[in-house]
Amino acid sequence: MVEARHGRSAVVVGAGIVGLCCAFHLNRAGLRVTVVDRDPDGDRTSFGNAGAIAQPEIMPLAEPGIIWKVPRHLFDPLGPLSIRLGYLPRLVPYMLRFLGAANERRFAAGAEAMARLLATAFDDHATVLQATGLGHLLSRDGHLWVYRSEAALAAAAGEWALRERLGFRCEKLDRGGIEACEPGLGPAARAAMRTEDWGVYADPKALVLGLMAHLRERGVEFRKAAVGGVSMADGGAGSLVAEDGARIDFETLVIAAGAWSHRLSGQLGDRFPLETERGYNTTLPDPGVRLKSMVTFAEDHFVATPMAMGLRIGGAVEFAGLDAPPNHARARALLKLASQYLPGLCTDGGAEWMGHRPSTPDSLPVIGRSPAHANVFYAFGHGHLGLTGSATTGRLIAALVRGEDPDVDLAPFRIGRFG
Ligand SMILES: Cc1cc2nc3c(=O)[nH]c(=O)nc-3n(C[C@H](O)[C@H](O)[C@H](O)COP(=O)(O)OP(=O)(O)OC[C@H]3O[C@@H](n4cnc5c(N)ncnc54)[C@H](O)[C@@H]3O)c2cc1C
Repeated sequence: MVEARHGRSAVVVGAGIVGLCCAFHLNRAGLRVTVVDRDPDGDRTSFGNAGAIAQPEIMPLAEPGIIWKVPRHLFDPLGPLSIRLGYLPRLVPYMLRFLGAANERRFAAGAEAMARLLATAFDDHATVLQATGLGHLLSRDGHLWVYRSEAALAAAAGEWALRERLGFRCEKLDRGGIEACEPGLGPAARAAMRTEDWGVYADPKALVLGLMAHLRERGVEFRKAAVGGVSMADGGAGSLVAEDGARIDFETLVIAAGAWSHRLSGQLGDRFPLETERGYNTTLPDPGVRLKSMVTFAEDHFVATPMAMGLRIGGAVEFAGLDAPPNHARARALLKLASQYLPGLCTDGGAEWMGHRPSTPDSLPVIGRSPAHANVFYAFGHGHLGLTGSATTGRLIAALVRGEDPDVDLAPFRIGRFG
């Protein structure tokens, strides 16, 4: 066992999938680990997502030309993207950086950085699954992106060329190929791309709870506390201050608090323009149709995942902040769209859900050490790919804490990249 450079113990804020994967690797490295969460047993984004290890989804959302697409979406209240009007002023700093990232150079560089980061995603998940005995939750049955027309698929040619250049194996299917592959998809699905570079968890919540149980067995302590403050003492160590006044001292701190992480990093001088991209889904217990693999409906920006508890249909991006109540009409709008592709879909009895994707303007997560405090590390901002990137992030954070060189260039993921 190599001793960590920053003491023998670590505190991780956040019991989502990213924080738990950090705790997993820190524990394996021999550190005494405490995970702090305001509600370790409560719902969180890592419970209700679409379950994908979506390795080829490396394109940043800030694509060249997006400025012309955004207004069209905004005027459709139940379209794939919406902004609550009252929230708009608070979104301006994030949006300006988002638009600043929407050029050819940064788009390509971002996709390449993500492809390098996620290159070991399956191996890293395998490490966690092997140790926890949760391997039965993950299947690799491929994935389909479907389009309403050949022309729509042709219009996305640049995206497919980039994926191919980055080494992803994707095969084009016509209507006959779709029928052979996914008979449940109706005639609205006219063209598709299929990949094998994809995995799906049958139940992301079971993964999180199983990993927590494993960590508890291995001696990781879970503390229920809403962290309101963080401060550093002379000599490097520091303290978290919970909203009820309790203090939690740390030698090493990992902030993996999802969409709330910037509230803590800012107190340490590391300001970051993090936003929440609220996403919605409905899980249908008895959908009346069968999909063999997860499907992305590319033009309509939603996905359907066959899961242990039913068919989960969701997506959507809503900017409305961390505190506004959910608008589940968004989830229902996606069900209507899904019915166009899945004849016979039964939408009765669905469980509606909303989660907070921790979103960065350039779609790259923040993974690395605080420039100001050598014993503080950041692991947040994974946006649409937090489940996918969680196991790799945990491995990289543990390497940094141990003072080892990570095997991925983490410069694109540094917290200071927006100044
Ligand atoms: C609809 C939808 C579908 C998605 N599908 C996929 C998918 O298929 N594949 C994929 O890879 N990703 C997907 N994602 C994204 C993924 O779910 C997230 O990126 C991921 O769950 C983020 O994990 P996290 O651990 O960073 O945050 P969370 O799961 O949000 O965990 C953060 C934790 O920090 C705690 N916390 C925050 N602040 C404090 C504080 N001050 N004090 C104490 N505790 C605090 C919270 O209570 C929470 O438990 C999807 C997201 C959505 C919304």
